[in-house]
Amino acid sequence: AKATGGSVFTSYRTQMRDGLIERLELENDLRTACENHQLRLYYQPTVDLDTSQVVGFEALVRWPHPTRGMINPLDFIPIAEATGLIVPLGRWVLEEACRQAVQWSEAAGGRPLKMSVNVSVRQFDQPDFTETVAAVLAETGMPADRLCLEMTESVLMTDTEANLEQLVRLKALGITLAIDDFGTGYSSLAYLRRFPVDTLKIDRSFVERLGVLADDTALTDTIVRLGKSLGMATVAEGIEEFGQLAALREMGCGFAQGYYFSRPVPAAEAGRLFLEGADT
Ligand code: C2E
Ligand code: CA
Ligand code: CA
Ligand code: CA
Repeated sequence: AKATGGSVFTSYRTQMRDGLIERLELENDLRTACENHQLRLYYQPTVDLDTSQVVGFEALVRWPHPTRGMINPLDFIPIAEATGLIVPLGRWVLEEACRQAVQWSEAAGGRPLKMSVNVSVRQFDQPDFTETVAAVLAETGMPADRLCLEMTESVLMTDTEANLEQLVRLKALGITLAIDDFGTGYSSLAYLRRFPVDTLKIDRSFVERLGVLADDTALTDTIVRLGKSLGMATVAEGIEEFGQLAALREMGCGFAQGYYFSRPVPAAEAGRLFLEGADT
């Protein structure tokens, strides 16, 4: 019995160790990838539901790993956050996305292009985050009002004075702010009014069950109306089917993203989508 217990214990320890080694390896690789500019941005179009035009993109980071293949952001953003690598990584994303936006807009005769960039709490908490954004805007020539920073409710709605102050300073640059995955966290209505937010991004989990679950349909409708009454734009995430699109149009949702229109695509393809005007 003792021997069996020992071997179970050993194999458990081996597993733990292997998991840890795997994680350390990934962490090392990620550091190298950042230093050697191996990360890539993909872009998913945002469609104006009134005109069916592509009006902008959300930048989504990708990691083409030399041996493991394409790694999903959900598998490395948490590592980047835990190690602090998210700070330089996030700055690179911001810069690259703005540079692309300016380039595509110029190629399209100056047609405005809205670029959305995801910001994690670790970045936002840097005391010089506003200065970083200002520097990127200046370096790239990106008009501030065409940049949208996406943050989750937990980042935006933490009711500390420092948080609010940081948001106000950011907003003073002239950028827009979106609450990502709206409806999955908890935003009190009072906070929503108090915080300088421009856009609500309706989480994919609601859109997924549009027309299937009456409750989710009602909730989506409520979020769209909430946005309207607060003077905020609404963007629906994760549209995959025509029925969902029709329902959202009917509700008066302003914008949408999702596989129905396009998956996130590499830069060259996104540039073409924008140039073509991409009527959908
Ligand atoms: P998110 O910001 O909520 O981004 C939307 C995710 O949903 C993306 O996954 C996108 O590819 C996916 N998606 C879009 N349309 C559809 C659809 O119709 N159906 C389905 N099933 N999925 C759809 P992705 O690219 O894997 O990114 C996952 C998350 O990783 C993002 O969620 C975001 O939180 C984070 N992330 C991505 N890029 C960055 C970045 O540059 N910085 C930071 N801090 N986080 C990032
Ligand atoms: Ca997002
Ligand atoms: Ca989202
Ligand atoms: Ca999400």
